[in-house]
Amino acid sequence: MEVDYIIVGCGLAGIAFCEQLYLNQKSFVVFDDQSQQSSLVAGGLYNPVVLKRFSKVWKSKEQLDLAIPVYQNIEDRLDVKLDYKIPVRRRFTSLEEQNNWFEASDKDGLKPFLNTNLITNENDEIDADFKLGEVLETGKIDTNTLIDNYKIWLKSLNSFYPESFIHDQLEVNPSGIHYKTIKSKHIVFAEGFGLKENPFFNYLPLNGTKGELLIIKAPKLKLDYVLKSSAFLIPLKEKDQYTVGATYEWTDKTNNITQKAKGELLNKLKTFLKCDFEVVNQVAGIRPTVKDRRPLVGAHPEHKNMFVLNGLGTRGVMIGPYIAKQLFNHIENEIPLDDEINISRFANT
Ligand SMILES: Cc1cc2nc3c(=O)[nH]c(=O)nc-3n(C[C@H](O)[C@H](O)[C@H](O)COP(=O)(O)OP(=O)(O)OC[C@H]3O[C@@H](n4cnc5c(N)ncnc54)[C@H](O)[C@@H]3O)c2cc1C
Repeated sequence: MEVDYIIVGCGLAGIAFCEQLYLNQKSFVVFDDQSQQSSLVAGGLYNPVVLKRFSKVWKSKEQLDLAIPVYQNIEDRLDVKLDYKIPVRRRFTSLEEQNNWFEASDKDGLKPFLNTNLITNENDEIDADFKLGEVLETGKIDTNTLIDNYKIWLKSLNSFYPESFIHDQLEVNPSGIHYKTIKSKHIVFAEGFGLKENPFFNYLPLNGTKGELLIIKAPKLKLDYVLKSSAFLIPLKEKDQYTVGATYEWTDKTNNITQKAKGELLNKLKTFLKCDFEVVNQVAGIRPTVKDRRPLVGAHPEHKNMFVLNGLGTRGVMIGPYIAKQLFNHIENEIPLDDEINISRFANT
């Protein structure tokens, strides 16, 4: 078989790159072994504001402008619902926080995203005496449905290999790539934290930050927006169910759920949720975070037809399509990558 591209990884990064290939009529195959879970468990929120500090997310406008049409295209083609336009509201715990919100809303990059009409909490099950601030242009991508349906679509094109990609079996020549029976012009590694096992790119400073989430059932809550307090509370499409998250852990690099994370999330939840609830599930994944908080994109220093698309960090939904387009334009149209995302900023020592 001969293709233009081999993609390793069918998470948010791999899918975003496949979309570029599909739109530009390139042929490709995708490998995924489900060894990483980040995209599968993600809360899926897109939100242009850092709600801890009320600051702008890096390139938020550019990212949103690109990302939303990508998910809409997939929705239309695969006939699934992925994008839920749900408001995100920040719960204030003091007058000082309210003032910080107003100050931030005066700043240029934030003006379009912070609503200055504060919302009075009318939900008896939520403790929010200092009102709520609403972020505009937010929503949630149902990443689980996205990935499941994307794989089904790839299978229907005979383009999906549900197996581990074995790096040792790859032959790389300046003229092309050989892997088992597949000949390809290029290979793109979009392996998330799996990059650590990739001998070609594991020199890059991918730290990895484990995150855990709880799924709770709270029949009395009836929340129709995302609440951000000490934790996020995100309504799910399943009746009365919500995601609670997430934790941040830098030493444990497994996808195993822990009692410690559960305890931490329950303690946070109890500071603002008044009603009874039941925990119905707990999930964990490793976010592909980078030392300098910028993505890892570009060509291998020696093998010019081998590329990496990684480092989506805590905001894969928004960043994925943005960096996938940059990488595609770089490979096919020789447009230079932004220095900030180019892996040339890290030496291969
Ligand atoms: C708890 C939690 C909550 C989050 N919430 C949000 C959120 O609300 N909004 C947001 O934007 N982001 C969120 N994120 C971050 C987001 O999930 C990541 O930025 C994103 O999923 C990274 O996507 P990726 O495709 O780079 O990596 P991954 O999702 O890890 O995908 C990599 C894929 O490559 C496959 N793979 C790796 N090695 C191999 C191999 N050798 N052979 C075959 N397949 C291989 C893996 O199985 C995996 O499917 C969250 C993350 C976590 C953990």
